[in-house]
Amino acid sequence: MTYSQKVLEDLKIKNPDQPEFIQAATEVLDALAPVVDTDPVYEKAGLLERLVEPERQIMFRIPWVDDKGAVHVNRGYRVQFNSAIGPYKGGLRLHPSVNLSIIKFLGFEQIFKNSLTGLPIGGAKGGSDFDPKGKSDMEIMRFCQAFMNELFKYVGADEDVPAGDIGTGAREVGYLYGQYKKLTNRSEGVLTGKGLSFGGSLARTEATGYGLVYITEELLKDHGKDMKDARVAVSGSGNVAIYAIEKAQQLGAKVISCSDSNGYIIDENGIDLDLVKKIKEVDRKRIKEYVNTHPEAVYSEGSVWDNVTCDVALPCATQNEINKVQAKRLVDNGCYAVCEGANMPTDNEAINVLLESKVLFIPGKASNAGGVATSALEMGQNSIRSSWTFEEVDAKLKGIMINIYYHMKEACDKYNVPDNFVVGANIAGFMKVADAMMAQGIV
Ligand code: NDP
Repeated sequence: MTYSQKVLEDLKIKNPDQPEFIQAATEVLDALAPVVDTDPVYEKAGLLERLVEPERQIMFRIPWVDDKGAVHVNRGYRVQFNSAIGPYKGGLRLHPSVNLSIIKFLGFEQIFKNSLTGLPIGGAKGGSDFDPKGKSDMEIMRFCQAFMNELFKYVGADEDVPAGDIGTGAREVGYLYGQYKKLTNRSEGVLTGKGLSFGGSLARTEATGYGLVYITEELLKDHGKDMKDARVAVSGSGNVAIYAIEKAQQLGAKVISCSDSNGYIIDENGIDLDLVKKIKEVDRKRIKEYVNTHPEAVYSEGSVWDNVTCDVALPCATQNEINKVQAKRLVDNGCYAVCEGANMPTDNEAINVLLESKVLFIPGKASNAGGVATSALEMGQNSIRSSWTFEEVDAKLKGIMINIYYHMKEACDKYNVPDNFVVGANIAGFMKVADAMMAQGIV
């Protein structure tokens, strides 16, 4: 058995109840095999064993009171996975499905994503099984305050800087930040995705979706194709989906779908983004409302990937939304590129189908890194007590995404796996972290 296989087998025995974490670790360790199984220096340093074990994982009680006076208790998590290259950085997910396996998978992915940005940030993730849907504004505020009442002990501008994720947008980050400041008396860049009036960065809201489209555009260009007039399918209708749709439309693509956890819209006239923003960001309603304004569009329950035909697929909702049957459908219907906006939306079997069919595929740790990259730019602006214009941040974001693309491609060429960006992204992200861990000794 090779070194990477041995570490993976031990990990499965140690974490039998963490399928999402094992799935993410399998993808990474398989991809790293050409590096770690050919040079004994890594095994001698126990590097993979250290890499797959979080430096620290914190679980805690979040008691809060709803509008009727009833007490609720949720579970909070912060997994500080790896700080070899900088302070921990990664979002907070608020969703009833949150458990330790999901937070560990996201934190593990974050290590390589953050490294790929070229910026000095380590990997972490956190969240809670709290469901924000249907809660009043005051309930959200009380929950966020209760969450921070414990989290503040473990975070800080030079220690661990959380951000948004599913269920955690500008409103939640604002409440979390307000409570941190109240508890510590410090005005520092402890969270990113803050409001513009208290240290937020211009273009952070747009960054993940825009960054996804910038790297997709570069991928297509490099393969003799164009975003202009491409037929693009998007899933989700949250932060990442909305700004992916916006940038794709600005580049002349025809975006024909979006979705939420209940169902999906297909609009052959092109998605009306102002309407989606109003439904999801202002009214906080379900995506099916779309057809009330556009009766020519079609709303269906279920997954968009069961039914959509496209050139380019941008899954932007959640993990494991595309399985191998759906991947095969995409291939059979002529899809030539899949770039992940969400984290791990394509399961490992589906990735194999895409790669075997020569569909261009970029994993989320590379293609959705624009969000965290811009968060790191927000940290930079906070520490110099200054702010950059939208255009400056957007230009830096675009540069970072294009760098990530060529950095991955270089790793693909070096290890003789052309266009296998799963291997390319993992190796490119791993090398910097591995070098830092080796240099810092057995800690
Ligand atoms: P949002 O909460 O803003 O939106 C999530 C979207 O996905 C919503 O449309 C939601 O529908 C849908 N969704 C959530 N869970 C499910 C599910 N189980 N099945 C189907 N649809 C679902 O989150 P973001 O847009 O911020 O995040 C989307 C993805 O992108 C996540 O994987 C996240 O980790 C990743 N990501 C986000 C970054 C960011 O900067 N925000 C950065 C990098 C990655 P509904 O309204 O019904 O819940």
